[in-house]
Amino acid sequence: MANKKIATKTPSVDKRIQIVIAGAGGFIGGALARYFHNKGFVRIRAIDKKPISEWYQRVREVECLCLDLSEEKNCRRACEGATEVYQLAADMGGMGFIERFRIECLRSVLINTHMIESAYKAGAERYFFSSSACAYNTELQKDPNVRALKESDAYPAMAERGYGWEKLISEMLCQEYWAERGMKTFIARFHNVYGPWGTWDGGREKAPAAICRKVIEGKDLGKKELEIWGDGTQTRSFMYIDDCIKGIEMIMHFDGLIATPINLGTSELISVADLVSLVEQIGDVKFKRTYDPTAPKGVAGRNSDNTMIKRILGWEPSTPLRVGMRKTYAWIEQQYQLRKAGKRIVS
Ligand code: NAD
Repeated sequence: MANKKIATKTPSVDKRIQIVIAGAGGFIGGALARYFHNKGFVRIRAIDKKPISEWYQRVREVECLCLDLSEEKNCRRACEGATEVYQLAADMGGMGFIERFRIECLRSVLINTHMIESAYKAGAERYFFSSSACAYNTELQKDPNVRALKESDAYPAMAERGYGWEKLISEMLCQEYWAERGMKTFIARFHNVYGPWGTWDGGREKAPAAICRKVIEGKDLGKKELEIWGDGTQTRSFMYIDDCIKGIEMIMHFDGLIATPINLGTSELISVADLVSLVEQIGDVKFKRTYDPTAPKGVAGRNSDNTMIKRILGWEPSTPLRVGMRKTYAWIEQQYQLRKAGKRIVS
């Protein structure tokens, strides 16, 4: 197998190449644009369908375009002259969103269909696709004491309805663009990513940010109770944004991983109830808990098996949850206070 070799370090890349980041108005794409800019890359094109004023992070020197990438002509524009394309645009959110809006999630296949073809036509050398742990067979995730998911567990397929199936199909597109057309594609299956500059309210936020917001709000308003979705026993692992960005860069530049889906997540498993306790400790507060068993809660348990990434890249995401959650809590608290004061939140 080509991917048996261990990547010792990320190869140095010419800082003048044209980098294209789709979904750069969002959480991970925004962090990636900032990361490449800070590393000295001078030709970064960031694209999102949201108006630029609503992007989570806007890096001043980066070319920013507001385009709907579900339309082919916009993808062609986005990929003009591209050397490396990072495809992070998707209609997505936490469980509350992906269980309620399956059609919207499935329609992200339009973005992936047109982006990969446009990248190919533009002669891009490398193409990165952000897949998800939701692509894994849900039958293997019915117990909170899960066996961690390894890459081969996606097939036989029974992915998360809507969102997970779209990811599987788009992974397949990446694999065939390599097999039939020779474009180097790279696929990471992210396990829950969290950190500053992520969605923290509005319905698309994921558990870590939602719990931080509820605790901050509860403290501020003097509430006594905190509502938890499900019964609190669901387990997950959560990856800090800095690890995610580092992983994307390493995966994209290691040829042993061409067209090979790989887990990008931590293997530090925690239940939702324990995550709430952790955030209460950070916020120095304690609430009486109420549970909503009817709320969207996703699979019973999900963890990342990191055997493959450790073997191939000699690395795995390792920021301790306690460390990452402190930073996330502090950032959300700041945003909460700014919003309360009626101030515009800027990057
Ligand atoms: P995000 O919602 O913050 O960012 C996605 C961005 O894509 C948004 O800004 C959105 O406006 C944009 N977008 C949606 N439709 C578009 C379109 N038609 N044209 C242009 N832009 C469009 O999400 P994120 O957390 O940054 O996730 C990035 C990628 O990583 C997504 O593919 C997501 O499925 C994947 N992923 C994320 C997580 C996570 O925990 N955050 C986990 C697994 C996979």
